[in-house]
Amino acid sequence: MKKRAAVACLFLLFFLMILLSGCFSQGKDPVTISRFLMDTKVDLTFYNIPHDEAKLLAEDVFAEMARLEELLSAHLENTDIHLLNSRAGKEAVTVSPQTAEVIKKSLELSEQTGGAFDITIAPVLQLWGFGEEKQSVPSPDQLEKALALVDYRNVTFKNSNLVKLEREGMRLDLGGIAKGYIIDQGVAILEEKGIKTAFLNAGGDIKILGSKPDGTSWRVGIQSPQKNSGLLAVLNLKGGAVATSGNYERFFEEKGVSYHHILDPKTGYPARGLAGVTITAPDCMTADALSTAVFVLGLEKGLDFIESFPQSEAVLVTEEGSIYYSSGLEGLLELQD
Ligand code: ADP
Ligand code: MG
Repeated sequence: MKKRAAVACLFLLFFLMILLSGCFSQGKDPVTISRFLMDTKVDLTFYNIPHDEAKLLAEDVFAEMARLEELLSAHLENTDIHLLNSRAGKEAVTVSPQTAEVIKKSLELSEQTGGAFDITIAPVLQLWGFGEEKQSVPSPDQLEKALALVDYRNVTFKNSNLVKLEREGMRLDLGGIAKGYIIDQGVAILEEKGIKTAFLNAGGDIKILGSKPDGTSWRVGIQSPQKNSGLLAVLNLKGGAVATSGNYERFFEEKGVSYHHILDPKTGYPARGLAGVTITAPDCMTADALSTAVFVLGLEKGLDFIESFPQSEAVLVTEEGSIYYSSGLEGLLELQD
């Protein structure tokens, strides 16, 4: 009798082990689905769900991201931003709630960063021509004229979705913030569907949903701004978002001088001093805009700003390659050698 019970127990144990190993093996391997969006490869990683389900979820996320990318672009006709730009100085334009949200957040961050972040920088950006066929250093005269149009205070809300650019010739460019917003919105879809854990990486701009299934920290690599020098540091995070701005992403050279695409709205010239800024924040929209803003503010002002800004931390790399980081990253940042 005893022997039979023991055999039955063994069987039961064996059966349970198979059952459990089935559960664990399903949760063991993360599934990553990729798509090219916003000029970069977007990797969306799922945990503890079957591949088929992950694929369907990723489809929904990527479709929404593609839709928002179009909506927030200034280049495509019939978009909110295109319309706003074309009606500058003439009339207010009704924009979608999403466009209104990004513009509102931009203006808020302009106020908080003393104008270092300013989406009305578009006329100056166009003069430089970053990413276009004709890139060149503008004349001081041209710069002065374009700079006269740059001032976020001339973007006004008539009601929650009705926006006006007050001066003719003004234009908006959401290049420093839209990507972060789109990433947040993509991940929000997963949250609505009850997904507990996911990791979205769009060329180094990252949004994390939930905590890592094995309970450890998420490890996020920060690329070195210096060419081909690999990883600069690893961030250990519990969640939230990460975004990086660098002088190596979009630039051209003229007479041996390199000019990059992050402009100081006060001078109209590329901001000097830093080579790369990585920001952590609860959401990717804030991280994205702040990485651009802190880049413009430079080492000292940028660090001071981030120390006083809630729930955000920064890693700053100077043009000489020195690394600085905010006090909240103590113990979370592993510098690589
Ligand atoms: P990316 O990650 O796409 O390289 P960043 O987040 O570093 O971009 O932002 C750079 C982009 O932000 C520029 O290409 C331009 O569209 C816009 N931009 C440049 N300077 C400013 C500024 N001072 N304020 C707001 N937006 C800016
Ligand atoms: Mg940015």
